[in-house]
Amino acid sequence: MDLHPGSIDHIWFPFTCSEDLRLFPPLVIGRGRGMYIFDTSGKRYMDAIGSWWVSILGHNHPRISNAVTDQLKNLEHVLMAGFIAEPTLRLSGLLAEMAPPGLERIFYSDNGSTAVEVALKMALQYWANRGENKTEFVALGGAYHGDTLGAMSVGSISSYHALFHERFKKQNFVNSPYCYRCPCGKEKDTCAAECMDSMEALFSETSESVAGCIVEPMVQGAVGMRIYPAKVLARIAELCKRFNVLLIDDEVAMGFGRTGKLFACEHANVVPDIMCMAKGLTGGYLPMAATLTTDEIYEEFCGDYASGREFQHGHTFTGNALAAAAACETLTILKEENIPDSLSLKINHFQRGLQQFCELDCVGDVRFIGMVGALELVKNKKTKEKLPPEKRLPFLIAQEAINCGLLIRPLGDVLYFIPAYIITNDEIDWMFQTAKQSIKRIAETEKPSMF
Ligand code: PMP
Repeated sequence: MDLHPGSIDHIWFPFTCSEDLRLFPPLVIGRGRGMYIFDTSGKRYMDAIGSWWVSILGHNHPRISNAVTDQLKNLEHVLMAGFIAEPTLRLSGLLAEMAPPGLERIFYSDNGSTAVEVALKMALQYWANRGENKTEFVALGGAYHGDTLGAMSVGSISSYHALFHERFKKQNFVNSPYCYRCPCGKEKDTCAAECMDSMEALFSETSESVAGCIVEPMVQGAVGMRIYPAKVLARIAELCKRFNVLLIDDEVAMGFGRTGKLFACEHANVVPDIMCMAKGLTGGYLPMAATLTTDEIYEEFCGDYASGREFQHGHTFTGNALAAAAACETLTILKEENIPDSLSLKINHFQRGLQQFCELDCVGDVRFIGMVGALELVKNKKTKEKLPPEKRLPFLIAQEAINCGLLIRPLGDVLYFIPAYIITNDEIDWMFQTAKQSIKRIAETEKPSMF
C-alpha cells in the first residue's frame, strides 16, 4: 500500500496530546476482519474495545459489507424533508419493533452527541409547546453524553468538561452511582440506591423548572465503566415520574445487547420518555444516530404551519441511505441470531475470565455486566489510594498490550474490554492473558517507585 508518512502532520487527532503523538505515532490501519484490524505492514491487532464501542459484530462483516455495497448501487443519499430513502423507511420499522414498548417515533441524526442534542432540544420544545417553563436538566456526576456544547452541559468529567462549563453552560448534577467508591459509604450490594437521595432532594426543590433528567443506563462509560445496580436506575425512573421530569435514556454506548439485554434500561424494567442510540446501530460501519420517543410527546409537536409547533432540528445527512442499509442488516443479524440471549454462555466465560485480575496487587476493582469488563487500577488495594496520575501507568499498559497485538485503551485509571459479540472463548482467554501480562510487565517495571 502506498503510504504518505508526512500527511500525519496535517491531522488534528481527537483526545490526543501532541507529545503522545510524537512518542507513539498512530498505527495506520489498512484492513479489518472480525475481531482483528491489520496495520499496513500486515501486523494484526485484536480490537478488544470495538473501536470505541461501535464494532458489535466485528470488522468487515460479510453481510453488512454486502448490504452497504448493494445499497451503493442504487442510492447513496437523499434529503429527508419531503423524501425518505427506502432503507431508512425499512429501518424505522425494525427500530420501532425492537425498542422498548411505546418508543415508536424516531428522529435520525449522525452520532451519539447529536442524538443527545436532539433529546435535549426535544424535551425543551415539548414543554414549551405545552406552555410550561421547564428549561433545566439534571444529570449524574461522572456523566458523559458527548462533546457538542449541549451534550457537554450535561457531562461531568472535569478533564473534558470543566473549561466549557465555566465558559458556556453547566446543568445540575447529582451523585455518581460509583459503587467502588460509594458516595454514601455503602458496601457493594447492600445499598438501597441512597446515592439518588441527592436527586430526590434536587427534584423536591427545583422540579418545576426541570425539563429532563439524562442518564447512561447501568454503566457510566467514559468516566471509567462505572457499573451500577438496576435499583439505582429504577429509582431514577420513579423520581422522574413522581416529579414530572422527562427521563432521557442515553443508550448510545450500552444499547444493542452490550449489557446482556437489548437495551440497558431493560435491567430495571424502565421505559424512558426519550432514548438515544448510535454507535452499534450501524454495526460500527457508518455514522448514524436515532432519538426515539413516544407518540404522546410527538403529538405536542403536531399542528399546522401557523402554529409553529414543529421540531426545529435537522442535519444534512439525516437518515442517510448507506448508513440505514448498514443499520438494517445489523439489526436483522441481531434478531436472527437472538442477540443478546444467545450470548449467555460466552458472557459467563468472559465474566469468569475477568476474575483472574482480582489477584493482581494493582487491580482494586473488577467489574462487569454483559460483555463489558473493567479493571480499576489503584496504588493501594486496601486503602483504594489512586495511582499517581503523572506516571500514566494505564496508558503504558495499553501501549505494552498494543505492542503484543491487543488493542486496549484506558479511561483514566480504568482498563476495559468491550469486544465484538463474535469473539470466541479462546480469543477471550488470549485477550485476558495478554492484558494480564502487559499489566504485570509494566507494574513490575514501575514497582519500586509506585508501590
Ligand atoms: N453518549 C454516550 C453514553 C457515549 O458513551 C458517547 C460516546 N462515547 C456519546 C454519547 C457521544 O457519542 P459520539 O462520540 O458518537 O458523539
